Amino acid sequence: MIQPRILLALLVSTLAFLCATPTFAQSKPNDDFQLVKVADGVYAAIAKPGGLASGNAGFVIGNDSVLVFDTFFTPAAIELIGEIQSLTKLPIKFAVNSHYHLDHTGGNQALVARGIPIIAHDNVMKWQTTKNKRFLPAPEELQKRKADAATQLSETPEDQKEKRAQLERQIRRLDAMMQIKLTNPTKTFSSGTMKLKLGKREVILATLPGHTGGDVLAYVPDANVVFMGDLGWSKTLPNLVDATVNDWIPTLDTILKDHPTSKFIPGHGNVAEASDIRDFRNYLDDLRARVKQGIVSGLTIDQAKQQLTLPEKYKGFAFQNFATPNVEDVYKELKGTKQVQ
Ligand SMILES: [Zn+2]
Repeated sequence: MIQPRILLALLVSTLAFLCATPTFAQSKPNDDFQLVKVADGVYAAIAKPGGLASGNAGFVIGNDSVLVFDTFFTPAAIELIGEIQSLTKLPIKFAVNSHYHLDHTGGNQALVARGIPIIAHDNVMKWQTTKNKRFLPAPEELQKRKADAATQLSETPEDQKEKRAQLERQIRRLDAMMQIKLTNPTKTFSSGTMKLKLGKREVILATLPGHTGGDVLAYVPDANVVFMGDLGWSKTLPNLVDATVNDWIPTLDTILKDHPTSKFIPGHGNVAEASDIRDFRNYLDDLRARVKQGIVSGLTIDQAKQQLTLPEKYKGFAFQNFATPNVEDVYKELKGTKQVQ
């Protein structure tokens, strides 16, 4: 028989544990994303490395319907729909694409197949099935990569568990990529804001320049949460392939001025505070200053890529492989030789 005092202590410690970890939603564990409750009825789906999500997504449950923000890679979008349905019986009324990149739109087909309208910037309609091809190798190439990985797996001994698991993940990812049908949004806009109603709850979409020239963010006023898409990266080096950093820095200043106390769901990285978004803004500003200085001192693009190494304070960021391409992209932007759009 347990002493009442011990029972009480147990109860208190269990409660303390539960209260200390309130942000993780009750979801089945999966390899692709982790569901995080950010506010009442507002969830982030944070991509796990090596899984099928690749980019973050999320959703907002109103009092008569649900909005989905971004669609991962397919079929992970179907897993997200499953998570929503395990939390609520309300229908999904809207989906939003933050921008065209495949890690945020690869699951569009799963939403469209369910008759759910997808809202995005006008440019997503232009780029979704064209520019996205650079992120999606041809089916023959995917087949070849899968066959190569399968051969490697068959040659990897059973006791090399980590290598086998990595190859299995790779095969699973290639299978998922083979299922992707580049699918357009269904309703677009290119300026101002768009207000969506989920019953009493409102979600405000707005478009701002910097990351691709076709980005939309979503603000949930009653929860004080901003879904940033790839306008915001948390402790992660960004992909600047389509970026205009000279537009992006003022965009981030505007967001930080308008939302000083919000929670932010970034396109990559964990749920963030304003300070994380400010760190990201400062990364872009530091990068631009370093490259500008390099150009002034006469560095060629190759010298800049070699010499302008990542400052120590950003060494802990994810996606370190973007450090050198970031220098190249900003160099081209500042020289006026970058091909965007
Ligand atoms: Zn992304």
